[in-house]
Formats: sequence, structure tokens, C-alpha cells
Amino acid sequence: MVTPITGTTQNLGVMGWPIAHSLSPAMQNAAIAAAGVDAVYTAFAVEPAGLSLAVAGLRMLHFRGWNVTIPHKQAIMDALDEIDEDAAAIGAVNTVVNDGGRLKGYNTDVVGFLGGLSDAGFDPAEKNVVLLGAGGAARAVLWGLMKAHAMRVTLGVRHPEKAEALIESFAARASLLGTKLAACHWETETFRGAFSHADLVVNVTPLGMTPHVEDKPPIDWRDAKPDAFAYDIIYTPEETRFLHEAKALGHKTLNGEDMLVLQGAAAFELWFGQQADTAVMKEVLREQLAGTNLSGRVQD
Ligand code: NAP
Repeated sequence: MVTPITGTTQNLGVMGWPIAHSLSPAMQNAAIAAAGVDAVYTAFAVEPAGLSLAVAGLRMLHFRGWNVTIPHKQAIMDALDEIDEDAAAIGAVNTVVNDGGRLKGYNTDVVGFLGGLSDAGFDPAEKNVVLLGAGGAARAVLWGLMKAHAMRVTLGVRHPEKAEALIESFAARASLLGTKLAACHWETETFRGAFSHADLVVNVTPLGMTPHVEDKPPIDWRDAKPDAFAYDIIYTPEETRFLHEAKALGHKTLNGEDMLVLQGAAAFELWFGQQADTAVMKEVLREQLAGTNLSGRVQD
């Protein structure tokens, strides 16, 4: 049963620019309804120049919390009172909790990424991993793999200097956690060597995402270990060409749907102190994806 909106209803939402394509309102309101929580979750289009004013406004309006998406994930950090360890390591916030006017920033993408992998039965501890891409999502994925004690992570990219800078920013933490990091162009022998030893290959580029479904990172699954696990954090289409080719050769595969749902569920738990119904969230997400013409980039 849907709880009526009254004077005591808690307010939440997602801020981004643009924001119209966000799937979070549908997912979060479904979880709110399933839990019978007295809350409502909406979307706010916040222009970059207005970010600090928007944050001050939400604080004054006693919003319980909100999600943060592109382009505000880094910039919002300066406007918050406290940043948790994951968000600090990644350098980006995707969830804010307002406790009595004190704003704390979190990053639940790590929980989402690792949760999906764990539910699929893959443990990254002591494993060789290849990450394709070195953008914003790669930071959360790399931090998750380090926390899970991956043995070695090699970033394969088209612009190695960007991946090297990313690795450099994680160097101290990587040496503490015992994960070896490397970066190279994905059309080199060094990369082919790393790929042939990988236990897990993760696509964190947008290559293959709707509408460019014929695209894929330049890898050939015939060169991979037979039991290498293929993980694409893209969730539209449901099966990218990267995953399709892996599956055809018998590799286990996972798309980005669980990561999206589980990062939302982790935010829900931070706001309400109770678990979200992830089955309901996933059902609503699938309905949204089926009913939407996703001609552009969708990201929460
Ligand atoms: P981003 O910051 O723009 O980074 C994209 C990465 O892919 C960069 O390393 C970029 O390389 C590379 N790349 C982009 N276009 C390329 C091309 N044509 N050829 C080769 N490399 C290319 O994006 P992001 O935020 O990390 O997101 C990446 C993907 O993850 C998106 O598809 C997004 O929807 C998905 N995602 C999913 C979830 C989830 O919950 N499932 C969460 C976050 C993101 P350059 O630096 O050389 O451009």
C-alpha cells in the first residue's frame, strides 16, 4: 500500500544535470512503498553553477538525504561536512545523508559493484583482474577490487596517461592493501599478456551501450583463460557485445543491473536504517528500461 504524502513525509531525491533520464526515482519510490516508509523521492535538475546553493537549500529544507550524479559527484564534496572512507578514496560522492543538519557524503557504487560480483559467486581475493577503461566508474570499481584484496589489477585503455594518473592516486592505498596496479594501452603485448592471465575482466567503458550496441572494447575472448569471468557494468542493453562474445565461449557473465540496484539499496539503508527490497527495485528498473527509448547515456 502506498503511504499518503503528509506533513511528516521525509523528502529525498537525486540531483544531476541533466536528470530527466534518471532511473533512481522509480527504483527508490518502489523500495519506499515496499518498506512502508513515510518518504518520497524526486529528481532535481541542478546546474553546476548552482550546486552549493542547492545543497544549502536541501539542508535547510531538512531533506533526509539524496543521491548525486553527473556532473556533481566530485564538486559536491566541498559542500559537505564529512566524507566517508569509500567516497574519500574514490574522490566522488553519490549519496548524501542529512543527520540533523550535518551532511555526510558516501559512495555506494563500491557496494553495488562488489555486491553484484559476490551474488554471482565470484570472489576477487588473490585474483588477476583486467579493467577496461579509467573514467569515473573505474575509480569505484578499482577501489572495490582493492578492498576485496585482488592480487593485481591491470587497466587497459586507449589513453594510458589517464590510467597512469588514476593508478598514481591509488598507489599508497594499493601498497597498504597489497594489490599491484598497472596501466597500458589495450593494443600492446603487455596488455595481451595481462588479459591472457585474467580471472576477471571488467568493462568500465561505455563501449557497447545503447544505441551503439555493435561497439566493444578491443579484446578477443579466445585469448582469455577458459574460466575468466566477464563483468560489464553497462545495463542497457541487457547483454552487450562484450558479454555476448564471452558467453558464446562459455564464460560466466554479469551485467551492470545488480550494481545499479545494489548501489541504490545501499543508499536506502543509509537513509532509513533498514534493508531495501532489491527484488522490487530490480523489477521496476526492468520495467523502466523496457519502456524507455534509451537513445542517450543513462546513469545514476
Ligand atoms: P567516463 O568517466 O566517461 O569514463 C569512460 C571510460 O571509457 C574512459 O576511460 C574513456 O577513455 C573510455 N572510453 C569512452 N569512450 C571510449 C571509446 N570510444 N573508445 C575507447 N575508450 C573509451 O564514464 P563512467 O562514468 O566511468 O561510465 C562508464 C560506463 O559505466 C558507462 O556506460 C556507464 O553507464 C556505466 N556505469 C554503470 C554503473 C552501474 O551502476 N551499473 C555505474 C556507473 C557507470 P578516455 O578517457 O580516453 O575518453
